[in-house]
Amino acid sequence: MFRAIAYLILTVFLITVVRSIIGIVAKGFSEAIRGSSASNTRPTPESKAPLTGELKKDPVCGTYTSAASSLQQTVGGQTYYFCSPKCQETFLARS
Ligand SMILES: [Zn+2]
Repeated sequence: MFRAIAYLILTVFLITVVRSIIGIVAKGFSEAIRGSSASNTRPTPESKAPLTGELKKDPVCGTYTSAASSLQQTVGGQTYYFCSPKCQETFLARS
């Protein structure tokens, strides 16, 4: 009888220890994953920033380009944005 109780207590104790170890390991893993994913996603917002930034319409072909990555041309105090040098050339030839 005492042996049975001792076994039961030992089993419960072992389960508790194993669970806590798994918990610590899992926490360590999730932190490691979080840490690595944070370093991986860190350059993404920077590279996405120009795309999500202000959109400007190309007056030649009508394409919307981000102000940060598009070609800019100031004509008569107004800034125009172009998707390609070809569109810029076309616009300058027109004006
Ligand atoms: Zn264009």
